[in-house]
Amino acid sequence: MRYISTRGNAPALNFEDVLLTGLASDGGLYVPENLPRFTVEEISSWAGLPYHELAFNVMRPFVAGCIEDDEFKTILKDTYAVFEHPAVAPLRQLDANEWVMELFHGPTLAFKDFALQLLGRLLDAVLQKRGERVVIMGATSGDTGSAAIEGCRASENVDIFILHPHNRVSEVQRRQMTSAISDNIHNIAIEGNFDDCQEMVKASFADQAFLKGTRLVAVNSINWARIMAQIVYYFHAAIQLGGPQRSVSFSVPTGNFGDIFAGYLARNMGLPINQLIVATNRNDILHRFMSGNRYHKDELHPTLSPSMDIMVSSNFERLLFDMHGRNGALVAELMDNFRTTGQLSVEEDRWTETRKLFDSLGVDDEQTCNTIAEVYEATGELLDPHTAIGVTAARACRRDATIPMVTLGTAHPVKFPEAVEKAVPDVKPELPAHMADLFEREERMTVLPNDLKAVQEFVSQHGNKGKPL
Ligand SMILES: *Cc1c(COP(=O)(O)O)cnc(C)c1O
Repeated sequence: MRYISTRGNAPALNFEDVLLTGLASDGGLYVPENLPRFTVEEISSWAGLPYHELAFNVMRPFVAGCIEDDEFKTILKDTYAVFEHPAVAPLRQLDANEWVMELFHGPTLAFKDFALQLLGRLLDAVLQKRGERVVIMGATSGDTGSAAIEGCRASENVDIFILHPHNRVSEVQRRQMTSAISDNIHNIAIEGNFDDCQEMVKASFADQAFLKGTRLVAVNSINWARIMAQIVYYFHAAIQLGGPQRSVSFSVPTGNFGDIFAGYLARNMGLPINQLIVATNRNDILHRFMSGNRYHKDELHPTLSPSMDIMVSSNFERLLFDMHGRNGALVAELMDNFRTTGQLSVEEDRWTETRKLFDSLGVDDEQTCNTIAEVYEATGELLDPHTAIGVTAARACRRDATIPMVTLGTAHPVKFPEAVEKAVPDVKPELPAHMADLFEREERMTVLPNDLKAVQEFVSQHGNKGKPL
């Protein structure tokens, strides 16, 4: 499988190189040159398979030529064995023909584990073969950092540096990062805000001299392998609900458009998906596009669903590429224009075509809490605020009540107690048994000033299993 850039002006890469590359050299994002397409018979034959075997069937074409079948099978088996629920991504019924797919049974209790547990293992396998080591740098306001750390924890060939704003992440989120203690894991608390962290990571990618030749890898949601891993659970849900003979619809709590883009790919690979609902919080640039063809940048609004607090959605460019007949030059022009004006609209017929599949809703904090309370009262199920936004949108945007509707349950409620306690004051979400001791675990982190040189010096002194590069 070859991968090409959404801006049409960068070399095509194979899977291994795409795994180790962030942005394409023309500023675009990598996408598969051709999507595999499965027949109804093939998909039907996967009914009843364990999650890791389904994952192998769905993802095999994407890694073909780079990772041997047997090795890939072993990697997938190990990856999904760390999930606490035997079904890995169980479906829980909320109402007639309405489900939540629980994607929070991984080590950090959010769906990002599905991709990052795999990414860490794939990186390690590829680097082992090459005899290379890499450094990962990332900034986090919460979920991504802990999932990336857990994913790389056992990687022999990776040192990971995660920057978070000091005293500005929740205690559960901080502890999930800082209690992972290993020579190759480096938590840096920056005396600044999330944007400062992100700027320092960006600047480090732009000028890598401090790494003395060691390759720097990104694990943010533009990494193709993350999208790839997320395609699998759409198949998993649909097959359990009668697919591919029957269509299914999905509602997806959305920030950077990675998770829902995976659903869009699943559909293009042959899975009958009737409707994809983009569920956003007040940071609703995607809702404004889907409802009115206006992808216009706005300021950031902090909400009770912080993992979806974004101003622009980095993976949206991948959809734009398809919307424009995969014409990279057109996408480059749109994105250049967006960079200077902060505004983007597409031709009416392209937008109308997109709307055949996608609907959307922007949900505010009050409505989020109402849905948490409502669902708790009706079913005893405690939703996290991101999932509650998905359920709200699913109910508001549903086109056909006879088609099963699945909301992606993106996080465990214990990660976001503020919203849950506001919605249902008398219940406190509890840590699952395997994490019950989180508040007693030892923590390790380094506090650094909001200063690029200090951070880069720290990385170069510790980037080789805690030793200097
Ligand atoms: C990251 C995240 C999202 C948003 O996913 P995208 O792929 O960025 O759209 C939603 N919910 C939770 C809990 C998350 O951590």
